[in-house]
Parts: sequence; C-alpha cells; structure tokens
Amino acid sequence: MPRALTYQRPDSVDAAITLLTGDGHRPLAGGTVLNADDDPTLVSMVDLQSCGLETILATDGRLRLGAMATLADLAEDERVPTGLAEAARAELPSTLRSLATVGGTVVAGGPDSVLLAALLVHDSRVQVVGPDGVTTVMLPELQDLGVPVGHLITAVDIDPTGSCIRHATARTPADVPIVSATARTSDDGVRLALTGVANHPVLVDPSDPTSGLTPSDDFRGSASYRLRLAAVLATRALAATGEVA
Ligand SMILES: Cc1cc2nc3c(=O)[nH]c(=O)nc-3n(C[C@H](O)[C@H](O)[C@H](O)COP(=O)(O)OP(=O)(O)OC[C@H]3O[C@@H](n4cnc5c(N)ncnc54)[C@H](O)[C@@H]3O)c2cc1C
Repeated sequence: MPRALTYQRPDSVDAAITLLTGDGHRPLAGGTVLNADDDPTLVSMVDLQSCGLETILATDGRLRLGAMATLADLAEDERVPTGLAEAARAELPSTLRSLATVGGTVVAGGPDSVLLAALLVHDSRVQVVGPDGVTTVMLPELQDLGVPVGHLITAVDIDPTGSCIRHATARTPADVPIVSATARTSDDGVRLALTGVANHPVLVDPSDPTSGLTPSDDFRGSASYRLRLAAVLATRALAATGEVA
C-alpha cells in the first residue's frame, strides 16, 4: 500500500465523516483503484469496511445497495435484477469482483463501465452523507458534480423492476466493450445508456441515441466508428426489450 500515509478503520459512518474532514483523507473501499493507482500522492486512508455499509435491502419497492456491497455480492444476490447482476459479473474478473464495491464503482467507474450503465437504466439514486447531513442525488447528476470532499456515498437505491439487456462490441468476447448499449423497459418507459462514447457512461434519448455525443478517438476505435457502433447497438438493445428506436 505505498500511497497510505495513515490508515484508520472507523466503526460508524459518523466516525468516518469526522475523519474525512482531515486534510488528505480519502475513503478506502475495495482499494482496486486507490491502492493500485500510479498517482504517488500520499493519502490518509479511511477504510469503510467496518461502517456497516455492505447490506443489500429491499425497501418501499426499491432495492438499496449498500456502498460497500461488492460486485460479487450483486452478482450473487437473487433480489438484484438479472441484467444488473450480469453487468456486475462482466465488469471485473472474479478476484477483483470480491473486492470492488458499489460506492467505489460510482466514484471511479470509467467510461467503459457496463455496471454504471446498468445502474443508470435502473433509475439509481445515490445517498450521500457529509457533515451537513444526508442528501439523495440522481446518478447522472452525481456523475457531473462528483462527490464533495469530506462526503461519503452510503448507498445506491435502484428500481429493481424490469431487467436490462446489453448489446456490446469488443475486440474479443472477454474484452471490455469498445461501445455498449444497455436498455430497460419499465412502467416509467424505456431507458437507454451507452458506454464508450463519453467520459462516463451516459443516459441517452432512446429515439435519438447519439445526439450531442462527441466520443474521443483511441487505439480501439475512432470517434465516427464509436458513433456508428452506438447507433447499431442501441437499435439492437431496444429491439431486444420490445422497443423500436
Ligand atoms: C485490473 C483492473 C481492471 C479494471 N477494469 C475496470 C473496468 O473494466 N471498468 C471500470 O469501470 N473500472 C475498472 N476498474 C476500476 C475499478 O476496479 C472499479 O471502478 C471499482 O469498482 C472501484 O471500486 P473499489 O471499491 O475498489 O474502489 P476504491 O479503489 O476503494 O476507491 C476508488 C475511489 O472511490 C472513492 N470511494 C470509494 N468508496 C467510496 C464511497 N463509499 N464514498 C465516497 N468515495 C468512495 C475512493 O476514495 C477512491 O477515490 C479496474 C480496475 C483494475 C485494477
């Protein structure tokens, strides 16, 4: 753990929030990013594993995923919708799935995260706690604003109805998709999320999925290739849910 200047393991959310007010203090969840990062900046780590945040709870027609629930927990819990569980399985290899958490994925999940795309179409609301109390933020808003310093994600609430379907293109079946489209139909209508076309997974308009998108080029695909893939994959994902693009 070369980045750890200090390490503390509080036993409650309140104690963690108090520690996080200190300079250079950061939450440590599964550590798959924080411990592995090349960034040499020293960090005072506040380990969340004893704060009681690992529970998955069905409540008021929604499913509350504790921030410290691991991707392996999501993949194995029968209450988690099939498509979301499958996205958790696809996100990382099994050794990392048992470490990486829901909260860490929301904060660190990159542009290719199929799990974040699945959370987006399941209408995720993120519970954030800080010295000023508890707030609930829609996931797209949190992606834009980030988690304020000194604050913690404690849970992600999803609408567990309906199951999402993903269509994706990757260099090999085992690779992270270059672009993916995840669709879900529920009583509220259809939702569609894309990966690989922006700096984080995005919810898009199902009737015009690529409108306003400006993907970056990289060695896996040019911007125009990504846009073309996004349009084709969106059509397939929507067709699979019974919707027509
Ligand atoms: C080999 C490898 C492959 C990967 N592949 C992918 C991939 O395909 N797609 C992808 O999206 N990601 C990938 N990742 C990145 C990473 O595994 C995931 O984003 C992971 O889910 C992070 O979760 P964690 O619990 O390990 O977070 P940590 O490393 O513990 O934390 C990550 C960040 O989130 C903050 N944080 C953690 N929990 C909270 C919380 N509850 N509240 C506030 N802040 C918090 C930490 O302070 C830190 O800044 C990969 C990582 C590795 C090492």
